[in-house]
Amino acid sequence: MLEEDLEIAVKVVIVGNGAVGKSSMIQRYCKGIFTKDYKKTIGVDFLEKQLNINEDDVRLMLWDTAGQEEFDSLTKSYYRGAQACVLVFSTTDRDSFEAVEKWKSKIEEEVGPNIPIALVQNKIDLLDNAVVEQNEAEGLAKRLKLRFYRTSVKEDLNVEEVFKYLALKHIEKMRKEN
Ligand code: GDP
Repeated sequence: MLEEDLEIAVKVVIVGNGAVGKSSMIQRYCKGIFTKDYKKTIGVDFLEKQLNINEDDVRLMLWDTAGQEEFDSLTKSYYRGAQACVLVFSTTDRDSFEAVEKWKSKIEEEVGPNIPIALVQNKIDLLDNAVVEQNEAEGLAKRLKLRFYRTSVKEDLNVEEVFKYLALKHIEKMRKEN
């Protein structure tokens, strides 16, 4: 097989409580759009994004929960074969922050302990309404040993960085395993 035929495809799952901005993040990253009343696309399992990391072509498949945020209603098939994960909470939703540890355990239980996870505090454009302090979020990320990002999907802040990090992590992991 020719070198250029090689392509790395990565299944990325995005978890976290409802309304923290998961669908918006996928739409922003894959389509470059942000809408306030984004309606969940029914029947579409994932959106794709192609990126190039140090000469490697990586195709990220971003799976949306399609409104199944109720913790236990996410199906096994959502997690099956996941290779990277974005765990999102919102600056303006305390419950979503308190649920982070539970989400992390859930992912690791469903997928295994070695999946790269990025912890994301979204909606940092709404700092005036913040109910989570930056240092406590950083403290949690440190304790849970997760890479931490602060994003605004609305203002397009740091979204690309989250996915670049996960793509890179995935490639590193693949190289180690081979
Ligand atoms: P999901 O349920 O986690 O998929 O959340 P959605 O993507 O449906 O977003 C919930 C609401 O938050 C929508 O009204 C979005 O427009 C809004 N939203 C998402 N990200 C941001 C952000 O970074 N800043 C602000 N101000 N609103 C956001």
